[in-house]
This record gives sequence, structure tokens and C-alpha cells, in this order.
Amino acid sequence: MKPSPPIKPRRPPPKPRYGDADSDSPSRLARETLRQLALRKVPPTPDNYRELYFQIRGSPDDDVFPTRALKAIAGTLPRATVADLRNAQAFDAAVASGKWQELHQVIVDLHASRNSGDRPWEALVRDLILQFERPHAELTQARKREALNHVLDAHPGVDILHDRLSALVRSWSQSGSAGADTMAAAGTPESPAPPSAPRPGQDAAVAPDTPLRPLLAGLLTDGVLPLAGNDEPLSREARALSDILLGGGVQADIPARLERLVARMEQIGEERHAVREALLALMRLIIDNISELVIDDSWLHGQLTMISETFSGPLDLRMLDSASQQLREVIDKQGRLKRELIEAQDHLKEMLAGFIDRLAEVTVHTSDYHDLLGRSARRIGEATNIADLSEVVGELLAGTRSAQESTLRAGQELIELRERVDDANQEIRRLQSELDAASRLMRHDSLTGALNRRGLDEALAREISRMNRNGTPLCIALIDIDNFKKFNDTYGHGTGDEALCHLTRTVTETLRPQDVVARYGGEEFIILLPDTPPKSANTILMRLQRELTRRIFCAPDSERLLITFSAGIAQLSPGEQPEATIARADKAMYAAKRAGKNRVLVAV
Ligand code: GH3
Ligand code: MG
Ligand code: MG
Repeated sequence: MKPSPPIKPRRPPPKPRYGDADSDSPSRLARETLRQLALRKVPPTPDNYRELYFQIRGSPDDDVFPTRALKAIAGTLPRATVADLRNAQAFDAAVASGKWQELHQVIVDLHASRNSGDRPWEALVRDLILQFERPHAELTQARKREALNHVLDAHPGVDILHDRLSALVRSWSQSGSAGADTMAAAGTPESPAPPSAPRPGQDAAVAPDTPLRPLLAGLLTDGVLPLAGNDEPLSREARALSDILLGGGVQADIPARLERLVARMEQIGEERHAVREALLALMRLIIDNISELVIDDSWLHGQLTMISETFSGPLDLRMLDSASQQLREVIDKQGRLKRELIEAQDHLKEMLAGFIDRLAEVTVHTSDYHDLLGRSARRIGEATNIADLSEVVGELLAGTRSAQESTLRAGQELIELRERVDDANQEIRRLQSELDAASRLMRHDSLTGALNRRGLDEALAREISRMNRNGTPLCIALIDIDNFKKFNDTYGHGTGDEALCHLTRTVTETLRPQDVVARYGGEEFIILLPDTPPKSANTILMRLQRELTRRIFCAPDSERLLITFSAGIAQLSPGEQPEATIARADKAMYAAKRAGKNRVLVAV
């Protein structure tokens, strides 16, 4: 290829042509260069173009200002804090000026500010206040205050403190803003630059500029420390790691240390689980033992049943909470009743003591009278004249009258005392039965003794979890007494109540111990049949019907009355809500009613 002829230097074009404001613009210069290349018939190679370009511009070619490269550098400068932003803006201005001198000055200033401890303390404090007050999406003020205290409490030296505070400000500034006005709130016109990429050799997950750091540090102080309990080495390590993360330091062993910490946490979790299981087993053992020991304290039995039901399944905070709430209510009521009972018993004791005193008094009076009679008989025998006799008779009459009055009074008092003792006894019996009922009432229907709605809900939850655990079928039967309104109308509501109790007794005594009977509404009952497929449930319900015919209900006036019921059975499908199963059983029950009553139907 033929070498291109050298470009002869020419005199620069007259100033007015190229020296005005517009003439220096790169595009003008480029156009003029191309024109000159064409005019001079010089081949437009890059080298020729370059040489001519700088000739026309009138400056040597090593003086070229690399605007594009410098702008690219400016784009990577940190702008998250006021000081950083100020530096970056100075750099932008220098690049825009296209003057080496200005750029030189900016670089010198930047270097000076870096050498004087990253940035002056005033700027750091200003940034700290700014970021502290700025709303952040994931950082509450409390969390920020805690992180700040953390850094301050470590009492580092001045230089380290500066570094750590700078790291803190940087991490806050790069945490997501709570509102859209991130930098507006910071009082700066520009929005913050995206977090800079991790430098080579840094772990991206713990790079000082990522917002993950304060989160991890928070997790360590808020999450790990309370769980660490009195495991001192673990607490120390959690605090140390948190300090490193907050301080912005980069240590290659952070991931490995975190891994070890997680492993220790897992170990602690397993240990705690084992302790919890052991405590539960101990609790169940204690409950079982107490139940065996207290044979006739039925009120205590009520409480124990509730506690053992709570501990029969997996522990659940909500259940524990509701059990302790119920227990508190029962204990409160029982405490009150127990006090009243003790008072009534004391009262009864006092009255019995009075009764004995009265009897003793009567005895004393009676023996005094006997003495008087004996004395008078002797004096009558010894009397020689009518005057002596009349004196004896007078004494005898007075003695008799007083003995009579005293006996009468004592008799009356004894009758009154006896009445009061009877009353007190009755009160004690009432209180005792109320006490027994108090614990049962929590989950039992007061009339029939079957479970009430609350009891049913709990039994359902228990049976459903058993069903899911063991994969066994659970059937729900809904039974409704036939023509009960007419029964009430004919025999009276009281007899109706007795009939309800009779039915409940028959159901309880006929079904298996694991079956559950609950009063669902007025004359409607729900029976839970665990581990029972629908066919067997049907057989069980029909056996119950037969049993009810056999154990005929005797009304208070000895009239024998037949009670019948209609029933619907539905099997609880896996995942089905129990209410839906009950609704299906209800539908089947109504079908049984429509089909003529006194029958059992299984829901499809
Ligand atoms: P069916 O065969 O269609 O079920 O007719 P029924 O008369 O049994 O049905 P209905 O629902 O019309 O009447 C139910 C009756 O049950 C009405 C109410 O007086 C009575 N009942 C509800 N609760 C009680 C209760 O606690 N004691 C008594 N004695 N009766 C009750
Ligand atoms: Mg009904
Ligand atoms: Mg009915």
C-alpha cells in the first residue's frame, strides 16, 4: 500500500474562523478536519485525521482531554453521602470543563480530604445525623440507635471510631429509603448513586457497601444473642461478628465464622427441643400420678383433665395460653367456693358445739330437778305440820316450773339449732356440688353432662389431628330426637329434660370409651367416632337405637316412654373442615327425618 504523503503544517486559520466559542467545538473541528483532508487530497486514515485535527485545533495531540473515559470514571464515584456527593460533583465539573488544570485541582483536593481521615469529622457527624433522621424502609430509628450504641459501647480508638462510624453511615445511606424522597430528605439535589460493586477479592455477601451487613448484624444481636442464653462463647462471637459487620471491616473468615455460629445455634436448638420434650413427659407423668392419687376430689379431677388434654398433643402457644386462662378462671371460682365452703363448715362446727352445750345444760337442769324431788320427798316424810308441808310444796312447785321453763327453752333452742345445722349442711352440699360443677362446666353441658360446644371443638381438633397422624377414619354422627316438641308439650319441659339426660346416659354407656358425645343444640347431639369407617358407624348408631328401645325411659310419674332419634353420619375427608362434615351429616339426618324418622343414614 502506498504510504500517504506527510501533512505539511500550515498556518492556523484566522482566529475569527476557529477561535470563537463555536469554533472549538469538537464537531466543528471534525468537520473542518475532514474538509481539509479532502482539499489537500490527503487519504483520510486515522493517523492523518488525528494529525490534521490537532493542527487545526492548534494544540499538541498529547494534550487531548479524555472526556469519555473520565465521565465513565465519574459514573463510578460514590455519591451516597454529602461529602462523597460533593467530591463527585467537583469531579463532574472538572471533566465537563475539559481542562486538565481543573481536573488536576480536583484530584489534589480529593487526595487531601482522603488523607485527612477519609473525610473531616464535621462532615461525618453531619452525615451521621442526616442518615439517622432519614426514614429507611428496613431500618427503624431504634435499630439505628442500637447499631450506633453498639459502635460507641465498644470504645474503639479515634481512628477506628471514625472508620466504624463512616461504615455505619455508608450502610444506612445505602439501605432502602422509606419514601421516594431519599436525597431530597438529605437536602441534596441528586438521587443517590446505586451501591458500588464489590471490589475484587471481597465477598459480595459481606461487602462493606451492601445493606446486608446491618441486617446480619441486627440478626446477630437481636436474634442470636437472646437465644444464646448463658452460652458465653456464643454470645461473644455473635457480638464480635456484629461489630465487624457494622464496622465495615472485611475479614476473609467471616463466612466460616458465621457457618460455625449457625452450627452451634442448631445444636442449641436441638438441645432445647430435647429439654422441652423431657419436660413435657415429666409434666404428663405428674398429671397422671396426681389423677391416680386424688380419687374423690372431683373438682381437682376437672382441672387435671383439662391440663392433661392440653399436654396430650404437640405443644402450641395458643393452646397453652387458652388452657392457662381457663385454669385461672376455674381456680378463681373454685378458690371462692372453697373459701365459702370452709366458712360454712366452721359455722356448722360452731353450731354443733352450741348444740352440745345446750344438751349439757338440759342435763344439769334435769339433775338439779331430780335433787329437788329427792330432797322434797325426804322433807315430806319428815314433815310434822301442814306449814312444813306447804313450804315443801311451794319449793317443789317453783322448782318444777323453772325446770319446765328451762327444758322448754332448751328444747326450743335445740330445735332452732338443729334447723340451722340442717341449713348449713344443705349450703355445704350446694357449694360442694357447685365446686364440682365449676370445673366440668368449662367444657360440659350443665344439663346432660355431655360436652358443650367448647368441649366439642377441642375434642374435634384432637380427633382430627389423631386421624391425620394415624391415617384412621373419623366419622361424625348428628342425632336429633324425633318429635321432641310434642314430647315436651305432652309430658312437660321437666320430663323433656330428664329424657335428654336419659339419652345422653344411654349413648355414653353404649358407645366405646374413645367415642365422644356432645350436645350440639337443644335436642341435637354430635357423636365423634374415631377409627371408624361409615359402615361401622352405621352399625354402632343402629345398636344405639336398639339400646334406647331396650332401656326405656321412665318418666317421673313412672310412665314408660319411648324416645327415638334420627341420625346422619358423615366421614371427615382429609383436609375437610369439620363444619363441612357436620353439614353433610345434618343433611343426611334430615333425609332420615323425611324418610320417616327413627332411622340412620350415611352421607354420600
Ligand atoms: P323432629 O322429629 O322433626 O325433630 O321434630 P322435633 O319436634 O323434635 O323438632 P323441633 O326442632 O321442631 O323441636 C325441638 C324441640 O326441642 C323444641 C324445644 O322445645 C325442645 N328442646 C330444645 N332444647 C330443650 C331442652 O333443653 N329441654 C327440653 N325439655 N326441650 C328442649
Ligand atoms: Mg332439632
Ligand atoms: Mg327433633
